[in-house]
Amino acid sequence: MSLQADNIIETKGALILGAGAAGLFTALKLAPYPALVLADTHPGVSGSSARAQGGIAASVAKGDSWQAHAADTVAAGAGLCDPEIAALVAREAAARIDDLVRFGAPFDRREDGSLAVGREAAHSAARIVHVRGDRAGAAVMQALTERAMATASITLLEGFHAIELAVEDGRVAGLFARYNSGGAPRLMLFRAQEVILATGGLGALYAVTTNPAETRGEGLGMAARAGALIADPEFVQFHPTAIAVGRAPAPLATEALRGEGAMLIDENGRRFMPAIDPMAELGPRDIVARAIHRQIAAGHKVFLDCREAVGAKFAEEFPTVYEACREAGIDPATQPIPVAPAAHYHMGGIATDTRGRTSLEGLRAVGECAATGLHGANRLASNSLLEALVFGARLAEDLRERGTLRLGRGTLPTPERFHLLPPPKALREAMTRLVGLERNAEGLNEALRIIAQIERAGGHEPTLLNMTATAKLVVSGALARRESRGSHFRTDYPQTDPTGVRTFMTLARAEHMIAEPQAVAGARSRA
Ligand SMILES: Cc1cc2nc3c(=O)[nH]c(=O)nc-3n(C[C@H](O)[C@H](O)[C@H](O)COP(=O)(O)OP(=O)(O)OC[C@H]3O[C@@H](n4cnc5c(N)ncnc54)[C@H](O)[C@@H]3O)c2cc1C
Repeated sequence: MSLQADNIIETKGALILGAGAAGLFTALKLAPYPALVLADTHPGVSGSSARAQGGIAASVAKGDSWQAHAADTVAAGAGLCDPEIAALVAREAAARIDDLVRFGAPFDRREDGSLAVGREAAHSAARIVHVRGDRAGAAVMQALTERAMATASITLLEGFHAIELAVEDGRVAGLFARYNSGGAPRLMLFRAQEVILATGGLGALYAVTTNPAETRGEGLGMAARAGALIADPEFVQFHPTAIAVGRAPAPLATEALRGEGAMLIDENGRRFMPAIDPMAELGPRDIVARAIHRQIAAGHKVFLDCREAVGAKFAEEFPTVYEACREAGIDPATQPIPVAPAAHYHMGGIATDTRGRTSLEGLRAVGECAATGLHGANRLASNSLLEALVFGARLAEDLRERGTLRLGRGTLPTPERFHLLPPPKALREAMTRLVGLERNAEGLNEALRIIAQIERAGGHEPTLLNMTATAKLVVSGALARRESRGSHFRTDYPQTDPTGVRTFMTLARAEHMIAEPQAVAGARSRA
């Protein structure tokens, strides 16, 4: 499809799409080289970054080592992490935390002034740097935004919703973005020497998610529609205990509550986890999430009962969760909290190398929309913000070394607030029901039929095509992976295949598989 822009801006520099942690940190690391950062939402509160609660993993404490961090990452990835990438990220983590401190992130400290670190599931040491308990994302984003706004080389533009990459002579040369001006929708072509996607994950393609509305896989979809290689699309991590009160995004009932002894019960007060895992409520995230999913699928309601374990200390010890419960009319000190698993994090994404380069000339990707090989089939807690920082810095260093960035001329508009339409309800429901915690060939094929209907009904609307492209890649990856591993569970293939390798596919390949299902077996091209 060829789009006609109302206006053209030449940036002749780095054009970063997305103002979450990945986009802003990359822009700051590029400075003093110019970067134009575009987003549909307001920087600072944009994307999943501002909602991160736990913190950022880094082996900064005495007795810990980057080798141990790398080993934990590889173990969590269920055989599909790239060990060299895990080592590289763990090794560079401390330097990136130093950068954040320099940019003003107010991490919690111990009395001797050293960084305070917490421990999270599947980490063999305490290594999560945090801010005021559960405020890491909001505090880091506030620091990055203030710093970016005070940096002369960075231009932040909100109110632009990107819909398609501009490809010229086989190279990504910019992107088309919608904006509203004077009450009318307009289309801008931003031309740039380097386009960097930092568009986050895809949680909002699911009916129940912890992600905000703007993270709906559109950057991945845009790149895929332009022909980029996509890696590991089938791996979507679900958080076991989102608070199920119909809020979007769903607030989290943090894992620390189960750590304190909170129990999972059904509507009759019956505990079900002891019969499923020897560690009961403290079993691995996937197992707990699937157990809750099965209860709900069997018609039960599931609650997290904190009355005995936390009780009257709730408001003081878990203020964020307490607030979310109170807003929904629940007093978690005296009432069980209704919970359900929610789409939380996408391990897959646009395949990138160690400098953020994608398979398309002129296009780079960083943060949750990229797949670097770090996470494998399951992300280790608090490794995602870290991945954004490590690869943002590497990408920036690579571009600065090349010295290609110059800000060109053009009059930048100040658009009105952009109202995002939510993804179609039928798509979100199909993704949750058929492409969620438990999948099988029949359900995945039904999902593909529903996606095709949605595409037909929506014509060639680019925003919709971005979302359906991403959904098709997730479903095709899940169909091609005839095994269960990490976050991906097939009821028709419940075993792990010892020969399993990472998935790499293009949208064209996924569409070929959909048209000719016998091609599925050959879908994985390289380990
Ligand atoms: C509730 C919650 C808690 C979490 N806790 C942690 C944690 O403790 N530690 C950790 O490491 N990770 C955590 N994560 C995951 C982590 O927050 C994300 O992986 C990370 O923030 C992603 O950063 P990002 O910059 O890649 O994307 P985001 O922060 O999601 O930013 C995406 C940006 O792209 C913009 N955008 C997207 N599409 C378009 C478009 N088409 N046009 C214009 N703009 C667009 C958005 O508006 C936004 O500005 C958590 C996630 C959630 C949801």
